[in-house]
Amino acid sequence: MTVRTSAVVLGAGHAGLAMSRCLTERSIDHVVLERGEVANSWKTERWDSLRLLTPNWQSRLPGCAYECDDPDDFMTMLEVIGFMEHYAQVISAPVETHTTVTSVRRNDDGYRIETTRGSWQCQAVVLAAGACNIPNVPRVTEALPLSVETLTPMQYRNPTQLPEGGLLLVGASSTGLQLAHEIHSSGRPVTLAVGEHVRMPRVYRGKDILWWMDAAGLLDVTWDEVDDIRRARNVPSPQLIGSDERATLDLNRLSEMGVKLVGRFAGVNGHKAQFSGSLSNVCALADLKMNRLLKTVDEWALEHDLDDAVGPVERFESTRLPASPPLSIDLGSGEIRTVIWATGFHPDYSWLDVPVLDRKGRIRHEAGVVDSPGMYLMGLNFLRRRKSSFIHGAGDDARDLSDHLLGYLDATG
Ligand SMILES: Cc1cc2nc3c(=O)[nH]c(=O)nc-3n(C[C@H](O)[C@H](O)[C@H](O)COP(=O)(O)OP(=O)(O)OC[C@H]3O[C@@H](n4cnc5c(N)ncnc54)[C@H](O)[C@@H]3O)c2cc1C
Repeated sequence: MTVRTSAVVLGAGHAGLAMSRCLTERSIDHVVLERGEVANSWKTERWDSLRLLTPNWQSRLPGCAYECDDPDDFMTMLEVIGFMEHYAQVISAPVETHTTVTSVRRNDDGYRIETTRGSWQCQAVVLAAGACNIPNVPRVTEALPLSVETLTPMQYRNPTQLPEGGLLLVGASSTGLQLAHEIHSSGRPVTLAVGEHVRMPRVYRGKDILWWMDAAGLLDVTWDEVDDIRRARNVPSPQLIGSDERATLDLNRLSEMGVKLVGRFAGVNGHKAQFSGSLSNVCALADLKMNRLLKTVDEWALEHDLDDAVGPVERFESTRLPASPPLSIDLGSGEIRTVIWATGFHPDYSWLDVPVLDRKGRIRHEAGVVDSPGMYLMGLNFLRRRKSSFIHGAGDDARDLSDHLLGYLDATG
């Protein structure tokens, strides 16, 4: 049997739920199809100790903000899951759980959606299936010695699952830094391969750096305001961690703990992991960009007469680097027992049977309006705004795109 509805939303993460709420507000009948349960990614794909890097006050979705005692604290995974489940209930989201979409096809009536629990026919479809479905793992992983275990952040839960001994962590964005900190603290010596990264202090002039970015409008910058949107969409996640101490976690802090820094992972030759000689350059660039951000914040504070209300201007020590970081490590020597690829994620579109992918497998779209009539996209990095992939960024995108979707339904009758 095929169920007919005006719109289908694919995925019940925060992006799909925000869209569901906006469709309901616009009286658009729809269903949300979810392969697991509400907040499935947070329930099944995150490590135990993870806390949001965005403060509680930023956890807001259309019509509902997270209620808590401390707006500056950071949610645990259980709290994130609780918040999303509460939200789905409050907005009465029409979620069909345990319903995996296996195919989305275009036909004369719009789109036909095949799932493991029947078919849906709709005029419009919103793809909110997540941007982080598949970890990026270099092909060379097969060339590593059998004595070395490899893991992705999705498989990692806590240090007890790791063998004793050294660990090579590849990637120094928020995931890589947080795992390096936790695993090194467990007594396993960590070597961190550092590529391009975004350095930020947690607290600047007495306020959270995300408070500054929010207040100064930096998170609201739109896709058509930046010079190179493709590049902006590929910027790695900021080196931030959510903790009670509101502490900065950067490469200097990890070095102080004893984490060894090496350059970007470049490949494997025989049993040798090789690293690029660019460590000092990528760190200098990250320091430069952080200082540029802080300068923007300072100028904004001055313009808005805030200078007396906040702490003094601060500048932070440049990233300290080893005199000559090794360019290779012998993975056959037994020193390294585990490699974790914290090298980012990409979306899974294996169920998408509409010709909208470019040569690199990315969906062709303009700010979420996909290059196929009545198809929309949610939750991607810098989809419409810099904040698009954050929880608090979904609301504005869902409002804009549901307006477009309503116009499409009206126009096509
Ligand atoms: C490690 C990590 C830490 C993060 N920390 C923060 C943070 O601190 N603050 C913040 O704001 N953001 C954070 N994010 C970013 C972002 O909020 C998450 O990636 C978020 O999960 C994206 O929400 P979403 O709704 O777009 O996707 P998801 O939450 O991934 O939701 C997509 C849903 O679609 C479902 N789905 C996928 N394929 C199918 C299918 N074929 N059929 C049916 N259902 C399907 C999935 O099961 C999932 O429930 C973090 C991301 C990661 C990976």
